[in-house]
Amino acid sequence: MFQNKCPTVDVLEAATRAGRISRRIELHLARCAKCAAVVSQIKDSAGFETLIRTTGADDLDHETRLRISGICRKATRRIAPPPR
Ligand SMILES: [Zn+2]
Repeated sequence: MFQNKCPTVDVLEAATRAGRISRRIELHLARCAKCAAVVSQIKDSAGFETLIRTTGADDLDHETRLRISGICRKATRRIAPPPR
C-alpha cells in the first residue's frame, strides 16, 4: 500500500496519535525521510499539547511561553474577518 507512495498526513497523524503505527507505515518511514519528519513533527506537537493541558500557566517554562505566544500570534493573523 505505502510501498512507493507516501501515506497522507491524515493517515500518519491518526496512526501516530493513536500510538498504532502499522508495520507497513513503519517500513515506509524507514525509507522515507519526508514522512519520518512529518511523524516526528506530529509527535512533537502531541507532546506539546499534552504539556499545555497538564501544566498550569504558572509552571510553564520560558521556552514554552515563547512557543505558545508564537502560535497564538500566527493563529491570530489567520483569523478571517467575520462575514458582514
Ligand atoms: Zn513518505
